[in-house]
Amino acid sequence: MQPLEWQAAMVTAIRVETHDTKSFAFALPRWTEHQPGQHYDLRLTAPDGYRTERSYSIASPPERVGEIDLTVERIADGEVSPYLHDVVAVGDRLELRGPVGGYFVWNVALGGPLMLIAGGSGVVPLMAMLRHRAAHSSMIPTRLLYSCRTGDDVIYKDELDALAREDRTLEVALTFTRKAPVGWTGYQRRIDDAMLGEVVSPLGKGVRTYVCGPTLLVESAANALTRMGLSAPQIRTERFGPTGK
Ligand SMILES: Cc1cc2nc3c(=O)[nH]c(=O)nc-3n(C[C@H](O)[C@H](O)[C@H](O)COP(=O)(O)OP(=O)(O)OC[C@H]3O[C@@H](n4cnc5c(N)ncnc54)[C@H](O)[C@@H]3O)c2cc1C
Repeated sequence: MQPLEWQAAMVTAIRVETHDTKSFAFALPRWTEHQPGQHYDLRLTAPDGYRTERSYSIASPPERVGEIDLTVERIADGEVSPYLHDVVAVGDRLELRGPVGGYFVWNVALGGPLMLIAGGSGVVPLMAMLRHRAAHSSMIPTRLLYSCRTGDDVIYKDELDALAREDRTLEVALTFTRKAPVGWTGYQRRIDDAMLGEVVSPLGKGVRTYVCGPTLLVESAANALTRMGLSAPQIRTERFGPTGK
């Protein structure tokens, strides 16, 4: 079997996550077990033969056999994400290739403590890590720091609330950069050194960190973690887009 061959995957479900984010479940004829954090490449071919590809992180854990979930944010002026949101329907077949990537990955065997830092749709691969961790009833001390524009932009909100409620070894901290929900008493600014100091330091010097999101967020968080004294192998990063949205 060639895991990196293109395969025609069928959309089996589409779930609205937020006002601009949807999750697509795909049944894969040649499913391959992935590592949480890996992604698939998705290829669209127009009737005239024009082709374009984008990468999408796997949101589902490897414990879900035969299917994967991809969660896609709709970029208003984008080429691919509006097509996925507005045109693709259950029963459609799309070309996928993967799983791809061997660096931005985590599994329970690697251990922790684990610090996950996300901006926007950067939470997607981190959610695969959290779902995998939950599937193993792992007690590895874990924190998620998740930066969103507003309360309406929190992807997987109910699931994150439930996971944190049920598991004392998992803490979820949100920060809102534009408009916090009414009554919000937590962070209301971009991720900065002080915030990272408060959230990351309690996990100790041996923490493994995974940072994913827009390029500017990833770079500033990674630089701050370095200033805190973390070594390069402790800081794994994945950049989703060129902008600092
Ligand atoms: C390894 C990897 C994993 C990824 N995983 C996911 C995922 O799980 N979910 C997801 O929604 N996206 C993910 N992305 C981003 C995705 O591949 C596309 O870049 C994104 O969907 C935009 O594609 P588009 O064709 O709609 O926009 P394009 O036509 O490529 O771009 C349109 C405009 O939007 C800007 N832009 C492109 N990407 C972004 C972005 N992410 N944020 C803000 N502005 C942007 C471009 O600069 C351009 O101005 C991932 C990217 C990488 C490299």
